[in-house]
Amino acid sequence: MYKTVLVAVDLSKDSQKVIDKAIAAVKANTKKIHLVHVVEPVAAAYSMDIYAVNINELQQEAIAMAEQRLKEIAEGLGVDASRVHTLLGAPAPEIRNLASELSAEAIVMGSHGHSGWKILLGSTATKVLHGATCDVLTVHVGDE
Ligand code: AMP
Repeated sequence: MYKTVLVAVDLSKDSQKVIDKAIAAVKANTKKIHLVHVVEPVAAAYSMDIYAVNINELQQEAIAMAEQRLKEIAEGLGVDASRVHTLLGAPAPEIRNLASELSAEAIVMGSHGHSGWKILLGSTATKVLHGATCDVLTVHVGDE
């Protein structure tokens, strides 16, 4: 049904469930899948200059770790490296913008991720949905 599907991976333990649903949505044709993880800017939480150097290092480390983990996941699935995206920014708009750039027909993501409490503030899925120009499939994750 879908030619291009963007899978939003938060690298939590529930990511596999989200990926499995995405694979089912493209009938196991992993050539149709793109993976994205968005690293949130560390500096956003600490804006004091005194932290600048360490925060920059921390940021690079976080990006490198995320890139490595996403690469491993992609290799396990047989998803080409050109379809693996590690971005820096606010997750919801980054995911939405990438979906537009790729002309994805669907975004597959978890109903919530490692930070279930975020649901009180509005989950990433809710934010992606607002303004999305393609289908957004949410996969129920969590204990209940
Ligand atoms: P959350 O709103 O953080 O509980 O996450 C809900 C879902 O949004 C997750 O299951 C992921 O599919 C996606 N998501 C959340 N944060 C990110 C992120 N930083 N990068 C990519 N996808 C994310």
